Amino acid sequence: MSEPLLKVKDLKKHFAIRGGVLSRVVDHVHAVDGVSLEVAQGETLGVVGESGCGKSTTGRCILRLIEPTSGEIWFQGQDVRKMDGEKLRALRRDMQIIFQDPYASLNPRLTVASIIGEALQIHNLAKTNKDIEARVVELLETVGLRPEYMHRYPHEFSGGQRQRIGIARALAVEPKLIVCDEPVSALDVSVQAQVINLLEDLQEKFGLTYLFIAHDLSVVEHISDRVAVMYLGRVVEISSAKDMYANPKHPYTEALLSAVPIPDPKAKRKRIVLQGDVPNPIRPPSGCHFHTRCPIAVERCSRDVPHLKETTPGHWVSCHLRS
Ligand code: SF4
Repeated sequence: MSEPLLKVKDLKKHFAIRGGVLSRVVDHVHAVDGVSLEVAQGETLGVVGESGCGKSTTGRCILRLIEPTSGEIWFQGQDVRKMDGEKLRALRRDMQIIFQDPYASLNPRLTVASIIGEALQIHNLAKTNKDIEARVVELLETVGLRPEYMHRYPHEFSGGQRQRIGIARALAVEPKLIVCDEPVSALDVSVQAQVINLLEDLQEKFGLTYLFIAHDLSVVEHISDRVAVMYLGRVVEISSAKDMYANPKHPYTEALLSAVPIPDPKAKRKRIVLQGDVPNPIRPPSGCHFHTRCPIAVERCSRDVPHLKETTPGHWVSCHLRS
C-alpha cells in the first residue's frame, strides 16, 4: 500500500476535570484512549460507535480543532502536531469538516453567499467580489442548490438544504480530506440517502478522502470502503466494510450489527442485546474496556488489554478470544 493520506498512531485525548475552590485538576475523561488508524487517498473510512465513544473527538484532534494529549497524526507525510503558522493554515485548507447539526453550524446572521465566501476570502482563493460570487454560484450548483439561494439566510432552508450549504462551504477551499462528523444524523431518513449520494458523487468528482463518523452501522455501510468500530476511546475492530458486515469478529461489533435490519425478509440475524450502559470514561474498566458488557468475557479480559491484531488480511480485531 502506498503512503496513506492520513495516519494516526496511538492518539489520546484526556480532558481534565477541575474541581474545588482552586479549580485544580481532579480527574480526566479518557475520551480517546490510544486510537491508531490509516486512511488512503480517495478512500472513505467509516468510524462507528455509540455516543461518547470518542469518534468525534478523534476527528477534531485530527483537524487540530482540539489539541491531543499524546500520539501522532501524519497528513501527507507531515507531522500535524508540529504544525503552526502558515503550515497550520494550509492544513486547515486541506482538511475540512462537515458538522452533524446543520442548524447550529451555519451563522444565522450571514447569507449563504457570505458563509461560503468567507472561506474563500480567508484562504485568498478569490480576489474580487465578482470572483467570489462566481465561485459561490458554482459551489451551490455542485451541491444541487439553486444559485439564487445565495442571498438567503440559513433559517430559510430545510435541514437537508442546510447540510448541502455546509458541504459547499467545506468544498470551497478544495480540501483533500473531509471529516464528516455525523453529517446525516439530524436529517430525515429520506434526506439522509440524498446527502450520502451527494457525498459519494463529490468524492468521485473531486477525488476526496472521507473520515465518515456515525453512530449507526447501517449509515456507514453504503458509503465506506473500510470501517473502524470504536468503544470507549479505542478502536476494537477495523476491516473492509464488506468483511465487517459479512463477518464481524469483535463481540461489540456483533452486537451493533445484530440491531441493523437485513433487507431480505427470509434472512434472520440473532439480536444481541448488550447489558448495562457504556461505562463512565472518567474511570474506564481495566483490561478490555468492553469486559463489563461482553457476553463472552473471561477472567483475563478484566486484567489484560487486548491489542489490535490482524486476524485475516486487512481485518484487525482487539479481543483475546477472537483470531
Ligand atoms: Fe470480550 Fe474479552 Fe474479547 Fe474484550 S477481550 S471483547 S471482554 S472476550
